[in-house]
Amino acid sequence: MSEMSGGCACGRVRYSVPMAADDDEAYLCHCRMCQRATGSISIAFKSVKAGEVRWTHEPDWYDSSPIARRPYCRNCGTSLGFQFKEGSENMDLTVASFDEPGRFKPKHHFGAESMHRAWLNTEGLPEQRTDGYQKLIDKWVDATGSFPG
Ligand SMILES: [Zn+2]
Repeated sequence: MSEMSGGCACGRVRYSVPMAADDDEAYLCHCRMCQRATGSISIAFKSVKAGEVRWTHEPDWYDSSPIARRPYCRNCGTSLGFQFKEGSENMDLTVASFDEPGRFKPKHHFGAESMHRAWLNTEGLPEQRTDGYQKLIDKWVDATGSFPG
C-alpha cells in the first residue's frame, strides 16, 4: 500500500488515501448530474473507501440531490468527488484532482444514457502543447515573469 494524495486547484483542500500499488482502476461517469456538477462532458472518478480518505483540510460539501453530496473547494471551485449519503462505504474522488492522475486507467463507463459519443475517441485530432502556444507563454511572462508549464 502507498499513500495517494491530491487536492483542489488553490491548495486549500488536500487529501490522501491508501492505495495498493497495482490499483489503477477508474471509470468515466457520463450521467447528466455529473455533467452539470462538473461542467464536463464526462468526469473521471476513482472509487475509494470513504473511511480511508484523510482530509488535511475538510472540503466543502454540495448537497447535489436527495441521495448524494459532492466535495469541492468553495475558494477555487474544484470538483473533488461524489458520495452517496447512505448505503455505501465507498466514495469517488476525481481522477484529475490526484497529484499523479496518470496512473489511473478507465475500466468502464457509467451513465451511458447521457454519453456524448463524439467526445469518446478524440485520437487523431490536431494536438498543441501549452508550451508551444506563444501567446499563452507571453501572457504568463508578462504577468509573473515566467511560464509555469
Ligand atoms: Zn481550492
